[in-house]
This record gives sequence, C-alpha cells and structure tokens, in this order.
Amino acid sequence: MCSIIGYKGSDHASSVLIEGLKKMEYRGYDSVGIATIKSGKLLTRKGVGKVAEVNKSLRLDELPGKLGIGHTRWATHGGIVDHNAHPHLACNSTIAVVHNGIIENYDELKEELNRSGHKFKSETDSEVIAHLLEEYFEITRDIRLSMIFTCKRLVGSFAFVAVFNSSTLCGARYDEPLIVGVGNDDYFLSSDILGFLNHTDKAIFLDNRDIVVINDSDISFFNFDGDKISRKITQVAWELGDADKGKYSHYTLKEIHEQQQTIVKSLEQDKKNLENFCNVIAEAKNIFITGSGTSYHSALLAKQILSKSKIHVETIMSSEFQYSSDMLDENSVLLAISQSGETADVMESVKAAKDMGAKVLSIVNIPTSSLARLSDSYLEVNCGPEIGVAATKSFTSQIALLYYVADIIGRKSNGIIDSKEILTKSVSEVLELDSQIERVANQIKDSKDVYILGRSFHYPVSLEGALKIKELSYIHAEGMAAGELKHGPLALIDNNSIVIVIHPNDSTYSDTLSNIHTIKSRGAKIVGISNKRNDVYDYQIIIPTISEFLYPLIEVIPLQLLAYYLSICNNANPDYPRNLAKSVTVK
Ligand code: GLU
Repeated sequence: MCSIIGYKGSDHASSVLIEGLKKMEYRGYDSVGIATIKSGKLLTRKGVGKVAEVNKSLRLDELPGKLGIGHTRWATHGGIVDHNAHPHLACNSTIAVVHNGIIENYDELKEELNRSGHKFKSETDSEVIAHLLEEYFEITRDIRLSMIFTCKRLVGSFAFVAVFNSSTLCGARYDEPLIVGVGNDDYFLSSDILGFLNHTDKAIFLDNRDIVVINDSDISFFNFDGDKISRKITQVAWELGDADKGKYSHYTLKEIHEQQQTIVKSLEQDKKNLENFCNVIAEAKNIFITGSGTSYHSALLAKQILSKSKIHVETIMSSEFQYSSDMLDENSVLLAISQSGETADVMESVKAAKDMGAKVLSIVNIPTSSLARLSDSYLEVNCGPEIGVAATKSFTSQIALLYYVADIIGRKSNGIIDSKEILTKSVSEVLELDSQIERVANQIKDSKDVYILGRSFHYPVSLEGALKIKELSYIHAEGMAAGELKHGPLALIDNNSIVIVIHPNDSTYSDTLSNIHTIKSRGAKIVGISNKRNDVYDYQIIIPTISEFLYPLIEVIPLQLLAYYLSICNNANPDYPRNLAKSVTVK
C-alpha cells in the first residue's frame, strides 16, 4: 500500500526514484511525486495518476540532483488531488517528507503547529511530519534529534523518508515497512527491496522504532529513545527482482500460469524447521488460524484439512481478531497466514496474541517480512514475487503447504508429497483450459451477479473464487456453501442469474447436484467445474480427476482464469484493481 523511496549517491536521483517506484507499482496507489536537492535547493514535482503518465506530463525524472525522495500515495486522509500527493514540504522548503501509513494524532499536532505559525498546504495527515521536523530543527539545529523528537510525537503507523537541510537522507519506521539498500557508493530507503534490487542486493531491514540518518560521511541508526544501535546487512536473493511479465500480457495471468511450478515448490521445506513447526501445532492446547482476504480462505481450508488429522482449530478473520480473541492464552498457538507478511490487521492480531502469551507461527511468502520476524517460527511458501494485486499463486502455495503440515501432524504417509507428480500434471491440464475459460467469460461478462457454490473443501474455494471475480472484474460475486442456498439466497435466483458450481465427482457430488437442479428450475445458467460431464451444466469446465482432498488446488485455477478474463472483457486492469492495494498496511 503506497511506496516510499529515498536515494543518496552518485547517480541521477530522479531516474533511480522513478525506476524504483515503477517496480513497486503493484503495491497500489493513486498519485505520485518526487523531490530532489540540487545546489542546496529543494525541487518537487507531483500529481495524480500512474507513474508513467505523471512522469510523461511533468517529467519527474528530469529533476536534477543526486539526493531525493519519491512516493506513490494511496490516499487515506485528504482527497486524491495534486496538492495532497507527497512529498510534503516544511514552510522553509528545506525539508521534504514522504510518508506511508496513518498519523492518528495529526489533528492535534496540526493545531499545535498552526498555533506556532506553520502553514499547511495539504489536507493530509502526513504533512505534520515535515513541519514537526522543521520545528525541532529550529530548536536543536541537529538532524538526529529532530528525527527522534518528531518520531516520539507521532501516534499511528508510519514509515517516512525525509531529505533534510541540503545533504542528509533520513528515515524512520513504526508498523510500516522500510528497508535500507546499501550500494557501492550509494544508499536507498525503500518500502520493498524491489525498489532498489536493480542496484544492490545488500539490504538492512529496519525494526520498529528505528531511525536511520545518512549524510555525506556515514550511515547511523538510532531508536526513538535516542540510543545508537547497530543493524546488520543481509544479502537478498536477486531472483526476487525477477518480476517482469515475460510473454504474458499481465502479471496476474503470468502468476496464474506459474502455479504449475509454484504449488510443488511450496513443498520444498527444510525438514527440521517443518517438523518443529508441526510439533508446535501438535502440542498446542488451542489452535487459532488468522488471515485476511485470500489468506483467510486458506485458513478456512486449513481448518478442514487439519480436522481430517483430528486437529481442532478455530479460524478468526484478522480484522475481527481484536473482538474475538479472549480465548487465547499461553497454551494457545496462533498461526498467521499472509503473503506479504506486512498486512496491518494480521500484524495487530499477532501482537495481541503475543501479549496474551500465545505462541505465534506464520506462513509467509516474504521471509524478511515483519510477520516472519515477529513469529516464533515460520514457513515460507516460496512462490516468488506476486505482483498482481489479487492473490493467485500465493493461495495455492499456502494451501499446498498447509496440506503438508496436516500430513505430518496426522502422520500420513501417502499425502501430498506422494501426489506431487499427479498434481503438477493436473495443474498443467487445467491451465490448458485457458482459452475455453476465456470463451465462458465472454458469455457471462454482462452478468450483474455471480454465485459460486461448493460443499466441504469446495466451500472456501467458492469464497476465494468470488473474491477474485469481485477484485478483478468488479462484478458482484458471492461464494457460499451449496447447502445454504435454500436457506435464503435462493430467493435471488432467476433467469438472469449465473451460478458457478464447484462440482467434482467426490463425496459432495450428489448433494450438490440436487442443489443444481433446484437452481436450474428457477432459470439460472450453470457453469459447472467438474471432472464429470453433465448436461445439467450450461457451460462445462472439465478438470482432471484427482484425489478428493487435492481438488481445491486445481479447481480454484479455472475461477482465477475466469476472473482474469472477466476483467479483460470489462476493460479493467487485472494487475491493479481500482481502490485496492497489494500490501494492506493500514487498518
Ligand atoms: N496517510 C497518508 C495520505 O493520505 C499516506 C497514505 C499512504 O500510505 O500512501 O497521504
């Protein structure tokens, strides 16, 4: 959600900043801006729109200077207008700031700063940071102290980067990500390593309450109490930067197709770490699983999978965690699932669980994420960068790994590991349905409402399919347990309804078939996802036969493809759905 970047070195800063912002576009944003310093003067350009568009009209990358900051904004406070785009400047125009997050006490700070004569030019919460820095610099004439005093005044979640007094680049973080990139003779500050990975693979992951100050002679780290601290350099994998679209027209489509490799890749785990992880679950008195959006659907599936190994778990949506976490205690384990490992709702749940004495396990895609670092133990799904805002390959990797965990806990010998080959083959067969699914999308593209039904394991998949359709195509879609239809939603079904049924020939087949007949007799059109042909379907999507518990891994793929092609039919951009951000770092 929004990206911040800073650069100090020997290169042309504005080009480095624009390149970094483009690499982080997947995080979601509505406006863009940069500031550089040249001959002691602060230069700023900013506007509403995509990086490439705004750059074309305002030539952001022509700003001169070797020190600068950049931002893509995902508005939380203040309209989406040019003057609210970051960077924000202090009154004297020698300090500029870009911020990610929310300053909860900005109203009261703004009032105080107004009283001391500061003039605000935007309606954002972020601008208070620039004026606070200026206020404290006037008093102390010391950049480090100005940063410390400012951070102490801020309540909320923030990562910010500031250029200061003509030659210093600073940053601070609290509950939002900020990473330092260390080059040969330059430094980067960025929300994501993708912001600088083209230049260096050396990174320093800042912790909460860290401040970094980079001047002409050195780089130093402090905490908000003013203590000097040291931070280690980590070498990150270059492959993480391997994020271009290849032969595909969108990242989302590429990532859907990558599932042929990524599902089984998630099963390549360090044996010892995996066993320890499973032991913590097996020995826990109470187990809770939490996640948001797609990761919550993985949690629902995990509950069902673990129940087959006689392990009882409760699932709690991360955004609801604070209202229903009273049963957690020191005998509990919270398993948190998150692709980015930065999701604010998940992080909040994890912190609350830790306060209650519970152990925290996590399943993440980014091992350097805040969630992984806060967990007692974590597993990595290893599916590579997921740039499309809507989760696709991370979902199937999460559930494959959860199957593996359940197999180990249940001591099953012929579980998912033994099915790897069949699984890969089946995934590739489903991916071959691509153009057939495109045709189905064309047939149903004008629908206003889509219902997706599934029983048992197929129920969480129906929720995930509906989420994909909503996110990507903006068509209203609802997933539901097939048996629930008659308890209410049936009232909505008529001959304009499209009902997608997840209907493999397994133990759910005949009950779901009865539901299909009930819907069909009300005139709805049926899209059947099944391994068995049936004339009851108006559109058939025939998937391969596989063992019952593995169906979720393959049946979700037609739904992802359908959502993708519906998005194309409706002229939406599947990679960057409107109003959404990849890494939701605000509550
Ligand atoms: N709250 C700030 C704003 O609305 C920053 C939002 C962001 O993280 O992009 O400008």
